[in-house]
Amino acid sequence: MKILLSNDDGYQAPGIVALYEAIKDLGEVEVVAPEHNNSAKSNALTLHSPLYVHEAANGFRYVNGTPADCVHVALTGLLGYRPDLVVSGINNGANMGDDTIYSGTVGAAMEGYLFGISAIAFSQTQKGWGHLDAAARKARDLVQQVLAQGAPQAKPFLLNVNIPNLPYEELKPFKVSRLGRRHAAEKVISQTSPHGETMYWIGGAGPAKDDAQGTDFHATVQGHVSVTPLKVDLTDHDELAHWAQAFGPLAASKARG
Ligand code: MN
Repeated sequence: MKILLSNDDGYQAPGIVALYEAIKDLGEVEVVAPEHNNSAKSNALTLHSPLYVHEAANGFRYVNGTPADCVHVALTGLLGYRPDLVVSGINNGANMGDDTIYSGTVGAAMEGYLFGISAIAFSQTQKGWGHLDAAARKARDLVQQVLAQGAPQAKPFLLNVNIPNLPYEELKPFKVSRLGRRHAAEKVISQTSPHGETMYWIGGAGPAKDDAQGTDFHATVQGHVSVTPLKVDLTDHDELAHWAQAFGPLAASKARG
């Protein structure tokens, strides 16, 4: 079993080191990860500057690019083979609800999924790496389970996993959840630069607005490890007919396409 491991916090982050140590005996695991912290880079690709790949003393390879760059470069030439599974994380902080749109951790996994390879993104719900050993063990449990089911040969999947920062014995079982929502972000933070210009810092993500039962927010607050299967089609299928109608004569007729 060949596993490509990446993340968005950078190749030196404790989360990817712990995850590598936890799963390295489950197959042939190769690390290709960003050189620097690339959190909130989503699926961004670097198109206007070259990418360089270097190898650290521990064998991890690192790229001066985004999480999606790492997986893209790995899959389109660097590895020279097609891995059975792409794993990302463990991220320093939650990737639940709307966070998944921005997440570089999810972005790395999604890049694998877009190439038709099953992928799993792992995050701890709190920043600071508390009980990282427990999160890595839980991640191992899940990877082992999907490999045992022969999942990589079946229809590719993309799983988003969020693990509460708790000791292993206190973590409740995996709970399959839908994404919650957090509509509002915290206010932007403005400061004055030494040159007298106003600078803006993007604020925090804000509290969950939909953390009802069945969501990832709800599951993790209860102490469960949340697992959300994701899909990538952004089409609003329910609205296709509405918009076809709304454009009236401006819309292409069915007869003429
Ligand atoms: Mn991150």
